[in-house]
Amino acid sequence: VTGGGEAGRGVPIREMARAVAAGEVSPDHWVAEALERIEADGATDRPLHAFLSVAGEAGGDGASAPAPAPAGPLAGVPVAVKDNLATLELPTTCASRILEGYRSPYEATVVRRLRAAGGRVVGKTNMDEFGMGSSTENSAYGVTRNPADRSRVPGGSSGGSAAAVAAGLVPCALGSDTGGSVRQPAALCGVVGLKPTYGRVSRYGLVAFASSLDQVGSFGATVEDAALLLQVVAGHDPFDATSADRPVEDWAAAARAGAEAAGRPGKVVGIPREYLSDGLDPSMRGPFDGRGGPPGGGAQVREVSLPHTAFAVPTYYILATAEASSNLARYDGVRYGARAPEARSTLELYRETRTRGFGPEVVRRIMLGTYALSAGYYEAYYGRAQKVRTLVARDFQRVFHLRVGGTAPDGVDLLFTPTTPAPAFGLGERVTDPVAMYLSDIYTVTANLAGIPGLSLPIGRVDGLPVGGQLLGPWWGEEGLVAAAAGLEARLAAAGSWTAGAGSAGRPGA
Ligand code: GLN
Repeated sequence: VTGGGEAGRGVPIREMARAVAAGEVSPDHWVAEALERIEADGATDRPLHAFLSVAGEAGGDGASAPAPAPAGPLAGVPVAVKDNLATLELPTTCASRILEGYRSPYEATVVRRLRAAGGRVVGKTNMDEFGMGSSTENSAYGVTRNPADRSRVPGGSSGGSAAAVAAGLVPCALGSDTGGSVRQPAALCGVVGLKPTYGRVSRYGLVAFASSLDQVGSFGATVEDAALLLQVVAGHDPFDATSADRPVEDWAAAARAGAEAAGRPGKVVGIPREYLSDGLDPSMRGPFDGRGGPPGGGAQVREVSLPHTAFAVPTYYILATAEASSNLARYDGVRYGARAPEARSTLELYRETRTRGFGPEVVRRIMLGTYALSAGYYEAYYGRAQKVRTLVARDFQRVFHLRVGGTAPDGVDLLFTPTTPAPAFGLGERVTDPVAMYLSDIYTVTANLAGIPGLSLPIGRVDGLPVGGQLLGPWWGEEGLVAAAAGLEARLAAAGSWTAGAGSAGRPGA
């Protein structure tokens, strides 16, 4: 193991907060430690570059940082925050030139909530510009490296948050997941990433990419840590009309209970056959072949079918680009961030600001999305994609047997899939091939299209690189999802996780 994941798997965040509340360590203890590690990373030869700004650095923190709450479930816990979540004391750039140095006049609801729980924002993390990408190579401020192998990508778009947790710089982090941007980098870096049901977590202060798909998610070294952070920031918010007024259960407690119940007869887990076909690297198949693989233990495993899976990536890229083209119209050089100072007309101001401010992937998406929404093609592309989106959601409804009248006997409680088709790829390998990059999301975009919750957890290594397994649950099923994930995590810890070399069939841990 080179660097990587395990280094961070130290103190659970529940224990950090307890030690602070009990006065065993100073309120600044964990934050000071985190800041030291972050600084040390910047000093090495090939820095991870997980952060775009760090609290306490020139231009950071200082007088405008809201005072931390003295107690609460995150008392004194350092949290890294993706740079598309608005904070008062640090810039919010979305890793774009067009928002270089931009300061938000308000904080995202999730940031206010984590502060109210005693959490401390130690820095803003690197990402693909506006969340568009799967490798963090689309950042205008340089790439982030994978802590497990610094010649490889950390995944994206929340690559900075995933790398920061995997390297042990911080115990937990927030990201956003529009098509997999929490689960995919979590898988490639070897940490846990949790995306909630659409509407579970407020998007107020999350810079919009594709509003009907965007959700804030969490990273942790363990299922319990990721669950705890997300439950603190979740729940109804009057500032987000799409946030649901539903009680948030104690997901961290559910994770602990799930770990204790590991191996006992429990859930029915479905493995969707479409997720194991084309595109899946043969070295990744082992855990998903039904029997001895990770879902084993107490779970009953059965193969299921989600027939519209093949349409998910094209559907996602029509809807996400259409929404992005509309959301990104606000960057015009007048209201936010950078502007072209020498422009002589309004049109020239827009054109120059946007030409200089947006990177190539963002430009590609605005063009694709504008085309899909244009009068002559709207029905053929956008209208059609909306219909297919419903079919993808119905696939899940069917396997979870969520019909009026309750659960049918042949339904499954959860689905288990690979998170990605392959382990982390090399820096520069896919950045010039957008379609190859888009296919990195093949197993994650379906959950966003349907709005269901999903979690990726480390299940083993291929050629020394972390690989993730994804658990998907029904709408509002976070409690059962984290319980099952923690059970699987406990079984993997006890049994030794699964390893393989490229091309081999792999073997379940002994
Ligand atoms: N990689 C996907 C995209 O580029 C997902 C991004 C995300 O979830 N923010 O759109």
